[in-house]
Amino acid sequence: MGECGLDYYRLPEDESEKEINIKLQKEVFVSQIDLAKKYKKPLIIHIRDASNDSKQILLENNASEVGGVLHCFNADEQLLSLAKENFYFGIGGVVTFKNAKKLLNVLHKIPLEKLVLETDAPYLTPEPFRGKRNEPLYTKYVAAKIGEILSIDQKEIEDLTTRNAKILFGI
Ligand SMILES: [Zn+2]
Repeated sequence: MGECGLDYYRLPEDESEKEINIKLQKEVFVSQIDLAKKYKKPLIIHIRDASNDSKQILLENNASEVGGVLHCFNADEQLLSLAKENFYFGIGGVVTFKNAKKLLNVLHKIPLEKLVLETDAPYLTPEPFRGKRNEPLYTKYVAAKIGEILSIDQKEIEDLTTRNAKILFGI
């Protein structure tokens, strides 16, 4: 179910419009969590500059019943506790970028059984193809980089993230 979630990156400047926008985003997010629970589907969650509110909504609405993936995990440490709530952490091309310091520092804190790879295609193409159209086959560069950072063999990263994805999506 998704993508859903909260995005406070580009909110209206006018204060009352901003308030309305945030209220609406929250309402829609809660409805989507309800739908996911009704149909027993995991959530694909997008969180940008909205970690606090997103986490609160997920917990208050018992989203752990279905779990899901924090797609393009924003490296915010306060979200790490969601690993215990049936949530996975999606890592994509950003991990290969030179300016990905925050993500590199937090990567080892994600439980390995909660790590999944993603593309966000056609966006966020990993190095060495950054700037070009992203493709699923490029996830191997993401796996290689994660392996390098965690000192784990690339093949093992591929295997464990595949295993995790199968559990997450019930396939
Ligand atoms: Zn997104």
